[in-house]
Amino acid sequence: STSERVPRICIVGSGPAGFYTAQHLLKHHKLARVDIYEKLPVPFGLVRFGVAPDHPEVKNVINTFTQTAQSDRCSYYGNVTVGKDVTVEELQQAYHAVVLSYGAEDNRILGIPGENLSGVYSARAFVGWYNGLPENRDLKPDLSSKTVLVLGQGNVALDVARILLTPLDLLRKTDITEGSLAAIASSKVKRVWLVGRRGPLQVAFTIKELREMVNLPGARPILDPADFAGLRDAIKDVPRPRKRLTELMIKTALEKPGEKEAKIWASATREWGLKFLRSPLEILPTADGKRARGIRMAVTRLEGSGESATAVPTGEVEELECGLILSSIGYRSLPLGSSVPFDRKHGIIPNHLGRVQGVPGLYCSGWVKRGPTGVIITTMNDSFDTAQSVLEDLQAGMLNVSNTKEGFESVRSILQSRGVHPVSFSDWEKIDAAEVARGQLAGKPREKIVDPQEMLQLIGL
Ligand code: FAD
Repeated sequence: STSERVPRICIVGSGPAGFYTAQHLLKHHKLARVDIYEKLPVPFGLVRFGVAPDHPEVKNVINTFTQTAQSDRCSYYGNVTVGKDVTVEELQQAYHAVVLSYGAEDNRILGIPGENLSGVYSARAFVGWYNGLPENRDLKPDLSSKTVLVLGQGNVALDVARILLTPLDLLRKTDITEGSLAAIASSKVKRVWLVGRRGPLQVAFTIKELREMVNLPGARPILDPADFAGLRDAIKDVPRPRKRLTELMIKTALEKPGEKEAKIWASATREWGLKFLRSPLEILPTADGKRARGIRMAVTRLEGSGESATAVPTGEVEELECGLILSSIGYRSLPLGSSVPFDRKHGIIPNHLGRVQGVPGLYCSGWVKRGPTGVIITTMNDSFDTAQSVLEDLQAGMLNVSNTKEGFESVRSILQSRGVHPVSFSDWEKIDAAEVARGQLAGKPREKIVDPQEMLQLIGL
């Protein structure tokens, strides 16, 4: 009967979405075989290249992903860019179902003059740089400015602020790349502003990340009490997470610090602060027109209240000197060839519960399905939902499993003909072991290899 045939499913992208989709499929279908294709030689997406180096506990999900990859019904093919080395149509020929989980590889732009000046970077590139993402390894951000401005008030904005301000002795013990550690060691940065268009009730970061900033050794918060006056009444009826978050900001801004905090703050040599109701208008160039020297911002006021409040300019304008500006206003997914529908407005693949609209047998999960927000757990849940849709469609006989598909066997020859050499999971384990060994010498969990060529050499490709 059809139910005993082996469904061959492939997944594009090896971040949390890819691995959680694979995990659910393998667990709930006794025969299904799952192949994961990844553009980089190394797996795990933003768990390796996004999550901050000083949050090692978040990366424990890698253990679960590794178990999935080691299943004898799962294979990993790194160093294969879908859309370039093999097309989605070719994958659809080779597999009963194709799941797109390729994340969000670009960032939203500010769209203001001066955005391309040197000294202005996307937080995505900056994060990629300190985490060893190959494409950003040569970023060489100029850290000679005393003041840094981060545009955005989400957790990624807090991540970059924290990495810029954390004492070197603490950073040294993380898996931050040695190149970025060296650059941060000679950094002149003393103050980081996190700028938001709206007010304290609209910040997007969460309490754990804020608390970490408040307790950051060597750094003191500079919050303007005026921003928080009267807020206590305003938060009486807001949902609990927002309420607790706001209470922490109010406490930090308005109350006398506790003994521990007072001690840290008194001896602090660095500081960070939140600037509200400011919308960037222009990055100001140095006299030679080459570099950023500051920013011009519109002062805004809120129209409406709560989550849906919008910022409207008051007409007042403010300028601030800063030589390093990091825009942290969000990641963005890109379309993957003409055969895959893409909703440009929302930056997602249009889908219903992970079923790509109008293309039977094609699915999506993770950031490319939902948009680039949410933590790993959110991504896990939506990936399980997508896997469930695949399982239901298999059950309903919609994926023509009676029609035998070759899976990787037919993709192999395509890749060969194009001179592409896939990296297996055991190859990755060799790279992993080499990184861990290098890290050990420096007292770090790992020293990431940042050059893909070096990775390939190491495994003899
Ligand atoms: P990704 O993790 O981006 O994975 C997509 C994968 O697809 C990548 O490996 C990519 O190389 C690959 N790919 C892309 N294009 C192709 C292609 N054409 N062919 C083949 N492969 C391709 N969440 C937490 O819970 N805790 C945190 O501390 C945390 N910190 C974060 C810090 C930052 C800076 C960011 C940006 C996010 C953070 N998150 C955190 C959120 C978490 O990383 C995401 O929820 C999750 O990674 C999204 O998973 P994904 O698989 O959709 O995308």
